Amino acid sequence: MRKIVITALGAALSLYGMGQSKPLLGFSAASSATQSAAEKKFDSYLSAQNADQYVKDMSARPHHVGSPGGKAVAEYILSHFKSWGYDAAIETFYVLFPTPKERLLEMTGPTTYKAVLAEPALKEDATSGQTAEQLPVYNCWSADGDVTGQLVFVNYGVPADYERLDKMGISVKGKIVIAKYGRSWRGIKPKVAQEHGAIGCIIYSDPRDDGYYQGDVYPQGPYKNEYGAQRGSVMDMPIYPGDPLTPNTGATKDAKRLDRSEAVNLLKIPVLPISYHDAAPLLKALEGPVAPEEWRGALPFTYHVGPGKTTVHLKLSFNWDIKPVYDVIAKLNGSELPDEWVMRGNHEDAWVNGASDPLSGQAAMMEEARAISELVKTGWKPKRSIVFAAWDGEEPGLLGSTEWAEEHATELQQKLVVYINSDGNGRGFLGAEGSHALEPLLNEVAADVTDPQTGISVLDRKRDRDIVNAGDNSKTKKELLAKKTMTIGALGAGSDYSPFIQHLGIPAINLGFGGENSGGEYHSVYDSYDNYRRFKDSGSVYGVVLAKMAGRTTMRMADAEILPFDFKSLYKTINGYVTEVTALLDQLRETTVVENQLIREGLYSYAADPKKHELAPKMMDNVPYLDFSHLQNAMSALEKSSNKLSAYMADGNKYPEAQKDNLNRQLYRAEQQLLSDNGLPRRPWYRHTIYAPGFYTGYGVKTLPGIREAIEQRNWKEAQDQIDIDAAAIGRFAAWLDSAAVN
Ligand SMILES: [Zn+2]
Repeated sequence: MRKIVITALGAALSLYGMGQSKPLLGFSAASSATQSAAEKKFDSYLSAQNADQYVKDMSARPHHVGSPGGKAVAEYILSHFKSWGYDAAIETFYVLFPTPKERLLEMTGPTTYKAVLAEPALKEDATSGQTAEQLPVYNCWSADGDVTGQLVFVNYGVPADYERLDKMGISVKGKIVIAKYGRSWRGIKPKVAQEHGAIGCIIYSDPRDDGYYQGDVYPQGPYKNEYGAQRGSVMDMPIYPGDPLTPNTGATKDAKRLDRSEAVNLLKIPVLPISYHDAAPLLKALEGPVAPEEWRGALPFTYHVGPGKTTVHLKLSFNWDIKPVYDVIAKLNGSELPDEWVMRGNHEDAWVNGASDPLSGQAAMMEEARAISELVKTGWKPKRSIVFAAWDGEEPGLLGSTEWAEEHATELQQKLVVYINSDGNGRGFLGAEGSHALEPLLNEVAADVTDPQTGISVLDRKRDRDIVNAGDNSKTKKELLAKKTMTIGALGAGSDYSPFIQHLGIPAINLGFGGENSGGEYHSVYDSYDNYRRFKDSGSVYGVVLAKMAGRTTMRMADAEILPFDFKSLYKTINGYVTEVTALLDQLRETTVVENQLIREGLYSYAADPKKHELAPKMMDNVPYLDFSHLQNAMSALEKSSNKLSAYMADGNKYPEAQKDNLNRQLYRAEQQLLSDNGLPRRPWYRHTIYAPGFYTGYGVKTLPGIREAIEQRNWKEAQDQIDIDAAAIGRFAAWLDSAAVN
């Protein structure tokens, strides 16, 4: 009842706010009206039934890299794009792709247990029994290995967990670790284990995180059942994604390839994901100290850390084959500016059937393409070219998108205006991340798309949830209530936008819906159409919402007279990051002084239970003052130039018609100025000075990554170098914006 009242009021408010008085960003009043009319027509062509049918068709069989099902899905997408009138073709690359040859995990002491390592077929899930075509449960890019050792439980296996182990006096050197899925990207777990001298790594799904502790398990409910396990890549993607053998170049047939031993993003130790059915006997047998409270999961016994008499034997070997990946690229030529491209992409490959990841997003994108083709039939044509991409090989490591972006790098840096990505999609709230110069555009688009469950805009619904979930601080809530806009997130890693933004400096956006579709099917055989229609997005209703959101963004970028980049918004965001890193350094300095005093005065030993033998932390070096002046000066230049450009863009009389094209080119290439020539320390493939995936978080973004990570790692010299490198990049960027405003 209460909900209905709120809904009606919300709908009334947003209708009131939607009067077409203000022209769309980048459009004149007249062209705004034409654009809005085209978008309304576009909406009317979208069909949830079509989107649902694509999901059903493409999830009918497993379709991982190199599989017959994978080729069939690429051809299915290609034939649809062709039938809609696109100039479409498959572009093939040849990449390294390991698949399991032998998988053995057994406990060898104090008792014996042999892991099942299989997800059983369920009668409620029609495709779960396609064992002949399924990839078994494994972590792609694990090393070959045959190791036996004592077992140690390392919680989520992130750096902080090893600091805790140090305090307990426990080393994992020469041992096999067992870590829980969650909290970090999975590839971080074996990487950190390897850095600490472990010889093998097991990753399991604890029922506390996505099993019975969260809700009913599959097939009764959506959560992970006792045999469910998460496949996935453990390539060290924070170093570089794509084919490990061809960094920086496209993996064409005759590309020059590294020897596998030279690929620095590949692990040296074996790693295997398992279900909690297989993990329970191992964990139950562990001895040693009781696990810290935050480490404990939902299995029905006391969690111990080890090591002790519990030993395990892990034997893994793989077929290290070169396989083709099939990217489907479909183009609709622009009527006025065919050499400026607006690109929209979503991956097509899955670990198994992949109804949710990635087909829910792929289906939305296909429906956008079909609706646009219907518009074309009515005489509409985009000003700039629209390019759709269905990427293969995303799951193992963004293989299809990275190889394509590397192969066409020069052309893309000249022509690509923006890359708009999506991936798995579900019921619920808008998620939006990307280049912050496009934040105002995304706000505008989100205000124009209606949420089907509440009738308010997807912008308002996201904002309402953010306010409700803002915690107990009423001051924060009041501040959020006063704000009418959303802040978009920064891009870390985890889908195909990485090569575009982080390697090439091309503005990128990632869009998706979710939050009301949680479950435990991710990367398992149970990510099926049966699961999708019951628990994810019944009838693909939110598939159409994503199509409206991403389709509008694509159309506005393709048709804008002046591209709606707002560098004042980017300035504000970067300025916030600068404040954060300077505060981080000050805070670290203060805690270092206090902690060192506690250690020096023996408080840690007096406060500890003498019988538990917890070690005091080690003294840390004092934190120096760093010189941020170059960065601050660069920021002040950027503030001036972004204001100046903004004023220039707002006043259409200032530049002659003939200068518009030139101005637009300056606008969409501007972000490339934020690339640094040498890239980030120890990972030169990542060249964006503002956004990167964290070296120790994986998916999680690090903003101003060079500076922030050097401070976190307490590498003061590197931090100072990175401050100056970022200052130079921001200075170049400011000068570029200045020159854009005077042509
Ligand atoms: Zn995906």
